[in-house]
Amino acid sequence: MANRLLEVSDLEVAYGDVRALWGVSIHVEAGSVVAIVGANGAGKTTLLRAISGLLPVRRGTIALGGASLAGPAPEAIARMGIAHVPEGRGLFRQMTVLENLELGAFQPKARANMRQALDKAYALFPRLKERAGQKAGSLSGGEQQMLAIARATMSDPKLLILDEPSIGLSPLVVQQMFSLIETLHRQGVTILLVEQNIHQALKIADYAFVLKTGEIAMQGTGAELIADPEIQKAYMGVL
Ligand code: ATP
Repeated sequence: MANRLLEVSDLEVAYGDVRALWGVSIHVEAGSVVAIVGANGAGKTTLLRAISGLLPVRRGTIALGGASLAGPAPEAIARMGIAHVPEGRGLFRQMTVLENLELGAFQPKARANMRQALDKAYALFPRLKERAGQKAGSLSGGEQQMLAIARATMSDPKLLILDEPSIGLSPLVVQQMFSLIETLHRQGVTILLVEQNIHQALKIADYAFVLKTGEIAMQGTGAELIADPEIQKAYMGVL
């Protein structure tokens, strides 16, 4: 337990009578990139939403730096240091790039550091500076995804949660997205990432968990899982 930031133990989440997660345990060390991979419907989004307080926990515990996340409202969990970029990005399309970024700094501490946070975001995403006055909805898909991630970093979160950041992007933009995640990693941001692009995700992940029909089927370092014949066969099209 080097420096465990997030600890999920024996988590059970259900939609009505239908259980989506069965006794799921994962952990995220501070400063690491952790990937959750698995087939469609395996429960990846459900796990992220439970961590952010968007779904009730039926059993088990979720803790961030030792503080329980099973109970507080999503707003309180955001204040505790979790920034969640959902699949579909959740941008305000009619608002400008700058207004979207400012909304990311909604906490008093972040608001006080708005200028520095904006400078940092613009250094990382120069495109967004050029387009600060443009409506978010008019950006390309890749730029919108960058904006959604930039907005999430405005609050200087302890944990950045990314749900399928590469979905719907062209191969070149997917590469840019992954290299951006690596840059954030180098800057010390802790990242929990869900990806369909399993090969790329495992390549940049310090550690990864494979979800299969609501249970953790395998776990290991990104390098271990990428080299695993079972993973290659099941998820990477290698026969
Ligand atoms: P995908 O990559 O397709 O988004 P996923 O691994 O993120 O898949 P989830 O979206 O977490 O999977 O879904 C896990 C299970 O829960 C699936 O069986 C799904 O049908 C079910 N489920 C998800 N959302 C709901 C909902 N709102 N109501 C009922 N069942 C749901």
